[in-house]
Amino acid sequence: MAIEQYAVIGAGTMGNGIAHIAALRGRTVTMVDVAQEFLDHALSSIEKNMARQVKKEVIDQQAADEALARITPTLNLEDAADSDLVIEAVLERFDTKSEVWQTLDQIAKEKAILATNTSSISVTRLAALTGRPEHFIGMHFFNPVPMMSLVEVIRGHDTDEATTKAVMAEARELGKTPVEVHDYPGFVSNRVLMPMINEAIFVLMEGVADGEAIDTVMKLGMAHPMGPLTLADFIGLDICLDIMEVLHRELGDSKYRPCPLLRKMVAAGHLGRKTGMGFYDYSK
Ligand code: NAD
Repeated sequence: MAIEQYAVIGAGTMGNGIAHIAALRGRTVTMVDVAQEFLDHALSSIEKNMARQVKKEVIDQQAADEALARITPTLNLEDAADSDLVIEAVLERFDTKSEVWQTLDQIAKEKAILATNTSSISVTRLAALTGRPEHFIGMHFFNPVPMMSLVEVIRGHDTDEATTKAVMAEARELGKTPVEVHDYPGFVSNRVLMPMINEAIFVLMEGVADGEAIDTVMKLGMAHPMGPLTLADFIGLDICLDIMEVLHRELGDSKYRPCPLLRKMVAAGHLGRKTGMGFYDYSK
């Protein structure tokens, strides 16, 4: 089945990025959110990000105008009815996603592919909320979506081969590099990344080195573009803690215990860039 019509549910950071790249690739996109102000904000972000691409001569103005015209914002989930591919990018809360998927299961057409952009919730568990887990899959994009080339394609327990192949092919059509993985806590990306960040926080807490030293070791010694503490500030310390809790709970191994310093910083409201303070000070 050719994928031409998208529905992107949730027009936040990830949703508007996904709408952006799909529309540029010629797909028509129905973009759904719960309040007009979120849709307006998403459209203006997409416009701004495309203007940046025009300035850098990655695309021309006509391509940007045509892509924008292919995106239809709506507050009505029913407008997802004709979509070939439904990508859900609502808040990372099981209750919110559960409600959205149970409703979408009633709305989406029979042959639609159902995809979630979750970064830590079980794809299998979300799939089981629908009557068609074989057509359900994880499409884990990375932030910022127009820039980051990876899509982690996550097969749930019952995801069928046709759905996996179609999503791998569609991710390539979008100019991304898809990697197929199975559904276990944290998938591959967060299973490897978050314990590394957590360990860097232990190293800081134990006074082995200061923050800048830890980041410098990992940047220059391991050729990471960004040190783990800088990256944690960028991701958000609350998100890092949530993902460590998922790994710890669901894999049941003490090696995934969140660092007490991470808990303390989240409790203090120092969540990284978004609050102006994390391992570094962004207030100036
Ligand atoms: P966000 O908070 O920026 O956006 C979420 C959007 O969903 C909001 O605009 C909100 O109004 C909307 N929403 C909430 N309930 C809704 C509903 N019932 N129907 C429609 N829209 C609804 O969040 P985000 O950072 O874009 O994250 C979205 C998803 O992507 C999460 O599952 C997250 O784990 C995942 N993810 C995030 C990142 C990242 O770096 N931000 C990276 C990969 C994956």
